Amino acid sequence: MKLSDEQIQLRDWVHDFAADVIRPVAEEWDEKEEFPYPVVQQAAEIGLYGWEFMANGMMGDPTGLTMPLAIEELFWGDAGIGMAIMGTGLAAAGIAASGTPEQLMEWVPQCYGDEKDLKLGAFAASEPDAGSDVAGYRTRAVYDEATDEWILNGTKAWITNGGIADIHVVVGVVDPELRAKGHASFIVPPGTKGLSQGQKYKKHGIRASHTAEVVLEDVRVPGSCLLGGKEKLDERLARVREGKSGNAQAAMQTFEATRPAVGAQALGVARAAYEYSLQYAKERHAFGKAIIENQAIAFMLADMATEIEATRALIWKAAWLGKNGTFENAEGSMAKMKAGRVATWVTERAIQILGGYGYTREYPVERWHRDAKIHDIFEGTEQIQQLVISRVISGIRIE
Ligand SMILES: Cc1cc2nc3c(=O)[nH]c(=O)nc-3n(C[C@H](O)[C@H](O)[C@H](O)COP(=O)(O)OP(=O)(O)OC[C@H]3O[C@@H](n4cnc5c(N)ncnc54)[C@H](O)[C@@H]3O)c2cc1C
Repeated sequence: MKLSDEQIQLRDWVHDFAADVIRPVAEEWDEKEEFPYPVVQQAAEIGLYGWEFMANGMMGDPTGLTMPLAIEELFWGDAGIGMAIMGTGLAAAGIAASGTPEQLMEWVPQCYGDEKDLKLGAFAASEPDAGSDVAGYRTRAVYDEATDEWILNGTKAWITNGGIADIHVVVGVVDPELRAKGHASFIVPPGTKGLSQGQKYKKHGIRASHTAEVVLEDVRVPGSCLLGGKEKLDERLARVREGKSGNAQAAMQTFEATRPAVGAQALGVARAAYEYSLQYAKERHAFGKAIIENQAIAFMLADMATEIEATRALIWKAAWLGKNGTFENAEGSMAKMKAGRVATWVTERAIQILGGYGYTREYPVERWHRDAKIHDIFEGTEQIQQLVISRVISGIRIE
């Protein structure tokens, strides 16, 4: 596939930002384990963090490749900082998946703010006792007819930008009897009483990205904050009660649409580790020659390069299919699963190629290995992707 001139320009523009701005401070923010506001601010100043960029990426490009291209470069720079820049996109995708066009126009710009007044968004679906098992969510959303408000109560876990976001998009249970089909998504506007940050997690990787619990205690939001509107929700729930539901529930819609992009994150990390270890293997000498002159090392690099190319091809195909109609064989899940595995494997091999140095924090490959692993876990674990794929290819409800 040949990229257009615009796509090449975009890729190079993001690459330059990743190389010049992100890479030099990646180690520092990983060590600090704090949200890298100054870097996100710089991204906002050049238009890389902002609702227009997301809107163009998600809607303006008929090939679906803009976001995978940009994300691969960002995460090649650093996955933690990349996630800090892209995390608000989860909230935007949540709004896009369930909201009306008017809600999209109202809330997505507020998720980002602008370069003079940066804002963040968060998408809060997972809970302490229910991550993969979305039917197990317990956060209740109860409608108060007298005031036309929704009241949210519960605890969300593992939320990117949780508690530090200005806009939280929260998945709540409207009808517990309908399990995963009884959910709806709500905007919690800035400064709403009752929403607070719980524990901030100390993570293995992507440590510059903020991940925390979000506690909701009698959080009241106006009826207009129900994404999609009450009429549509009532109609959908009535259809489900009659056993006629065709609609996937809100959280799953969001995840399916974002999977190729999550694959691109992992791909960026894998490529960073591959490029670094290729260079290292040419420079490092043992037994009187460069270590790459041994087939054992050169073949490892050949396999790494091949896996990276194959993964990119799958991600691009999935992104294109996602944009241009339908996934045929759960390619979104395939791309995400393959990319997570490849990133974890390639970064581990990179440590192997660097030997003892690879195992130290003096070199970036151990960080990339820590960063890669998240891609087997969030936005649907490896096993959940297998479940989705096996059900689609077999037509059987595999458990
Ligand atoms: C850094 C980070 C950021 C995150 N950001 C967000 C966010 O912004 N918003 C959000 O809503 N969530 C977020 N998450 C949550 C993430 O999506 C969940 O952690 C993930 O879905 C897994 O859920 P869990 O941790 O509860 O694991 P569990 O669901 O308890 O899974 C544990 C293990 O059991 C396996 N398993 C579970 N069910 C099955 C099954 N049916 N068949 C086979 N194996 C199974 C899993 O694959 C896994 O290996 C984030 C998580 C992390 C770590």
